[in-house]
Amino acid sequence: MIRVIVVGNGMVGYKFCEKFIAKSGQEKYQITVFGEEPRRAYDRVHLSEYFGGKTADDLSLSTSEWYAENNITLNTSELITDINREEKTIHTHLEKTHTYDYLVLATGSSAFVPPIDGVEKEGVFVYRTIEDLDAIMAYAKKIKQKGATEAAVLGGGLLGLEAAKAVRDLGLNPHVVEFAPRLMPRQLDKGASDMLQSKIEELNIGIHLNKATQYIDGKERITGMMFAEDELLKVDMLVISAGIKPRDELARVSGLEVGLRGGVVVNNQMQTSDPSIFAIGEVALYNQNIYGLVAPGYEMADVAAEQILNGSKTMRETIDMSTQLKLIGVEVASFGDPFVENDAVTAIIYENKLSGIYKRINVTKDSKTLLGGILVGDSSDYNSLFQIYSNAMALPKNPEDLILGSRDGSEGSSLGSVLDLPDTAVICSCENVTKGSICCSLLDETCSNFSDVVKHTKATSGCGGCKPMVSDLVKATQKSLGKEVKDVICEHFSYTRQELFDLVKINKYENFYEVIDHHGKGDGCEVCKPVIASIFSSIYNDTANKHVTTQDTNDRFLANIQRNGTYSVVPRVAGGEITAEKLIVIGEVAKQFDLYTKITGAQRVDLFGAHLSDLPKIWKILIDNGFESGHAYGKSLRAVKSCVGNAWCRYGMDDSAGFAIELENRYKGIRSPHKLKGGVSACIRECAEARGKDFGLIAVEGGWNLYIAGNGGANPKHAVLLAEKIDKETVIKYMDRYLMYYIRTAGPLVRTATWLEKLDGGLEYLKEVIIEDSLGICETLEAEMQTLVNTFECEWKQVLEKPRLLKRFNHFVNSEEKDDNVVFVPLRDQKAPKAWS
Ligand SMILES: Cc1cc2nc3c(=O)[nH]c(=O)nc-3n(C[C@H](O)[C@H](O)[C@H](O)COP(=O)(O)OP(=O)(O)OC[C@H]3O[C@@H](n4cnc5c(N)ncnc54)[C@H](O)[C@@H]3O)c2cc1C
Ligand code: SF4
Ligand code: SF4
Repeated sequence: MIRVIVVGNGMVGYKFCEKFIAKSGQEKYQITVFGEEPRRAYDRVHLSEYFGGKTADDLSLSTSEWYAENNITLNTSELITDINREEKTIHTHLEKTHTYDYLVLATGSSAFVPPIDGVEKEGVFVYRTIEDLDAIMAYAKKIKQKGATEAAVLGGGLLGLEAAKAVRDLGLNPHVVEFAPRLMPRQLDKGASDMLQSKIEELNIGIHLNKATQYIDGKERITGMMFAEDELLKVDMLVISAGIKPRDELARVSGLEVGLRGGVVVNNQMQTSDPSIFAIGEVALYNQNIYGLVAPGYEMADVAAEQILNGSKTMRETIDMSTQLKLIGVEVASFGDPFVENDAVTAIIYENKLSGIYKRINVTKDSKTLLGGILVGDSSDYNSLFQIYSNAMALPKNPEDLILGSRDGSEGSSLGSVLDLPDTAVICSCENVTKGSICCSLLDETCSNFSDVVKHTKATSGCGGCKPMVSDLVKATQKSLGKEVKDVICEHFSYTRQELFDLVKINKYENFYEVIDHHGKGDGCEVCKPVIASIFSSIYNDTANKHVTTQDTNDRFLANIQRNGTYSVVPRVAGGEITAEKLIVIGEVAKQFDLYTKITGAQRVDLFGAHLSDLPKIWKILIDNGFESGHAYGKSLRAVKSCVGNAWCRYGMDDSAGFAIELENRYKGIRSPHKLKGGVSACIRECAEARGKDFGLIAVEGGWNLYIAGNGGANPKHAVLLAEKIDKETVIKYMDRYLMYYIRTAGPLVRTATWLEKLDGGLEYLKEVIIEDSLGICETLEAEMQTLVNTFECEWKQVLEKPRLLKRFNHFVNSEEKDDNVVFVPLRDQKAPKAWS
C-alpha cells in the first residue's frame, strides 16, 4: 500500500484527490488529507455567495460520504507543522505523526496584508475563508447598530471589487482604495478601467485610485485610513484584499527550495526540490509565477496525480491567465496579452460611454493573428475571441468585425460554427475540457444532453464562464447527428419552458422545490427559479408575493430598481386615461416623498427615487385613492397605449381609448415569458403606434384589424396582421388564445416577435392554431385565460394587507431605517441620482 498524504483541503487539494481516484482505481493507495480549516473543501471562487444566503454546505465541493466511499481519510481542523524528509513523516499540531511515500503540498495562500501601521486594529479583516466572512458580517452588524455607514476595501483588483460588493450588500457604503492608477491593473488598460470605474460608481461605490495608505487611524478600532498628504478617509471597517501570499511555511521549515518572493519551487512535473514531495495550486511557484486562479491549480493537480501514478503528463510551459467574470453586475473579461503595444501590433478599440461598453483587441499589423484583448460591459464575445486567440485561428477580412459584428449583413458569430474549432481547443479551462471530448461524449452516445456532458466531462463546473460555448457545442453536435435539440432552461432541468409549464400544470405543483425534486437536480439558480415562479403565476395567477425567494429583484420588491439603488413607482393608468383628481394624487405623492416624475412612453407617470422602505407608504396612498400596481417591474402586461379615439378626434372610427382600457384591465397582472405591451388606434393614422407592440388594434371600416408580435426596444419589429375587420368579441377571443398560447409555449425571456419568428410554420401555423383551432385547444386556451382574468389581485394591495409581506421592504434586515447614503443632485427643477466624483 503506497501512502499519499495531501496537506491542505482547499479547491486544489480536493481536485488532486478527485483526479487521483479517477486515475488510480483506489486499491493500491491510501490517501490521507489534512486541512487546517474546520470543514471539507469548499468552492472559494463562489465564496461571496455566502453573503447571498448560501451555506457552507451549499459551497462544499463534495460530501463526507464521498471521502469515505473513496477510502480517503480526511482530517479537518488539523494543521501540519513539520515535515521530516529523511524519515518521510509529517507532524501535526495535535502531536501526531504520519508516514508518507508521497507528500502533496496544497496549502494554497493567505491574503497578503501590507505592512501598514494599524492593520491589527479592530475592524480590519481579510477576505479568504468562510470564517473571515462570518467575522465581517458580525462586525458590520455591530457597527451599523451604532450608526456607522462607511467601509473600505483595500485593493481594486478582482477580489477587492468582489469584496466591495459584499460590503455593499451588508448595507455599508463601500470605498475601494487602490494604490495603482487604475482598477484591475493586471487585467485592464486605462480605458477599460475608466469604463468599469464609472459603472461601479453608478452603484454608489466610491473609487479612490493612486492612494498609498500611510496608516490606519483610530485608537483600538479603525476609524479611518490616512493617505499621503494627510488625506483622511473616514471608515469604520476595512477589508484587505490586496493580493495573496503563498503558504510556504512548511516548505521553509523543512528546507525545500522556495522562491525569493515566496512559493514552493516546482518543475513541470510539480515536483519540489524533494522528488517525493509535490506542490500544487497557489502555493506552487512554477516558471517564476504563482497563479492565483483555480484553472492552473486544477491542471497542476492533474499533473501531480499522474506523475505519482507513473504517468507522463507534464505542465504546459505557458499558463493562460484569461479571465471572464461578472463584477458587481458588470461583465469584465481579458485574454491573452491585453496590453501589448509595439510597432508590430494594432490595438482596435471600441468605446461606447452611453452604454458603458469598452472592447479592445490586439491584432498583428498584418491582421492575421489575435494576440489578446479586454472586454468591459459586454463580454458576450469572450468565448469566441478566446478560442480564436488560443487556437491561432484565421481572422476575418476586417478584424474589427470581431468586436463590432459583421457590417456586411451576414449573421453569426465572429467564430463561425463552434464545430469549426479544432478538437484540441480547450473549451472549459477550469477543468481543461476540450472540444473533442465534449463532442466525443455525444458522438459515442455516452451523453445525450447538456447535463450529461456536464456530469461526464465536468465542463462548466468551475467558474462557469464556458457555459454558453459548451451549450452551443452540445446543440451543434446533436444537430449534426440529426437529433432534436431542446432549449432546456438551465443545467438544473432537462426541459424546455414549455415542457415545464405542462409538468407543473399536469402535476399541480405549487412550489419550486416540488418541481426541482421531481424533475430537476441541484438547488436551482437565478435562471430557473424566476422561470418557475412565472409559470406558477401564469397557471394559478399567483402574484409575485407568493414565491418571493425565487423571484428576481424587481419582482421581489414589486418595483424597478434604479441606478442608485432607489426604486421607481408606476401606478396603472389604463389606456392612459386619467382624471384630474388622480393626477393631483400622483403629484402630491411625488411632492411628499420628493420623487422625480416623468411621463412614460406607455402613457403613465413614473415616480423615481423612492427608498425601499417608503414603497409601502407610497402605495398605501395610491391604493387608498383608487390606483393599482402598474406591473412596470413584472414580466407581464405593462400597458395598452391608446389614441384619444372617436370621442374627440375628427378622424376616429371607434372608441380606441375605451377598448384599450378594457383590454388593459382584462390582461393586467398576468405573468408571461416576457413583458407585453399593447396599443389601440382609432384610425390608420396610428397615433398609438399599435403596430410596434405585442398586440395592436387599429379601427378600420367594418371593425378592428388585429396585429401581433411587434415590438420596439433594442430590436424593433413591426407587428403582423392576424385578422382583419373583426368585432370586439372576436378580438378578445383571438387575443385570449394568442396570449395564452404564447404564455404556454415561449422560452424564458422570449418576446412575442422572436417567439413568432422561431415558431415552426410561423404566422400561417399560428393562424391555424388560434383561428381555425387545428389543435383543438382553443376552448381550453380561452378558459385558462378567463380563469386568470377572474382571479386578478393587485399585488401591492396584498402586501399592504399582510404585515408578513411588508417585512421585505426594510432596507436593512430587521430595521426600518432608510438607506441614507443615497445622494441626489438637482436636475431641471427636479432631482437625479448623484454620480460619484
Ligand atoms: C473571494 C475569492 C474569489 C475568487 N474568485 C476566483 C475566480 O473567479 N476565478 C478563479 O480562477 N479563482 C478565484 N479565486 C482564487 C481561487 O479560489 C484559488 O485560486 C483557489 O482556491 C486555490 O486553491 P488552493 O487549494 O491552492 O488553495 P486554498 O483554497 O487556499 O486551500 C488551501 C488550504 O490549505 C490549508 N492549509 C494551509 N496550510 C496548511 C497546513 N500546514 N496544514 C493543513 N492545512 C493547511 C488552508 O487552510 C486551506 O484550506 C478566488 C478566491 C477568493 C478568496
Ligand atoms: S389614430 Fe386616428 S383617431 Fe386616433 S388620434 Fe390619431 S388621427 Fe385620431
Ligand atoms: S431606453 Fe429604457 S432602458 Fe434604455 S436608458 Fe431609456 S429607460 Fe433605460
